[in-house]
Amino acid sequence: PGAGKGTQAQLICKRYDIPQISTGDMLRAAIREGTELGLKAKSVMESGGLVSDDLIIGLVKERLTQPDCVNGCLFDGFPRTKAQAEALDKLLKLKNAEIGVFLAMQVSEEELVKRLLNRGLTSGRSDDTNEMVIRSRITEYNSKTSSVADYYKQYNKVVMVPGEGCI
Ligand code: AMP
Repeated sequence: PGAGKGTQAQLICKRYDIPQISTGDMLRAAIREGTELGLKAKSVMESGGLVSDDLIIGLVKERLTQPDCVNGCLFDGFPRTKAQAEALDKLLKLKNAEIGVFLAMQVSEEELVKRLLNRGLTSGRSDDTNEMVIRSRITEYNSKTSSVADYYKQYNKVVMVPGEGCI
């Protein structure tokens, strides 16, 4: 959270003309629309936790049926757990497709907190305004998401990108 994945994802998608599949954006849309998924996700997101794997996998599965994904896509903020990564591999296999590259942006915790509090001034996201929630999101990342890189390392698909400093 706060590393700049959404910003970089937009640039990559524009360059390669592929859709950006952001599970965070899709969940926020579900909350706005008041769907059943949105109701289930709201409190978890507000507390800085991760939404359940089943809900996320269902969401991505449905999204991948849309025709704009035929030439590939970029997942932004997904998979965030090893279970999601395994489920995604299974899903892609059925479509004769696979992950090409896994990008992870590296930013120090203090910088993340600074960026997120700053973004909270204008983003309208309640999870960006409270430092406790921001710290919980980072703790969730460290305990559940950072190991997703290890999953893709076994297939030599990982590229670590420094997320601080000049371009
Ligand atoms: P993001 O916009 O990617 O920072 O995501 C915002 C919030 O949405 C996260 O803190 C999680 O609560 C939830 N979320 C987004 N993507 C996922 C995912 N792949 N797995 C579980 N929760 C997610």
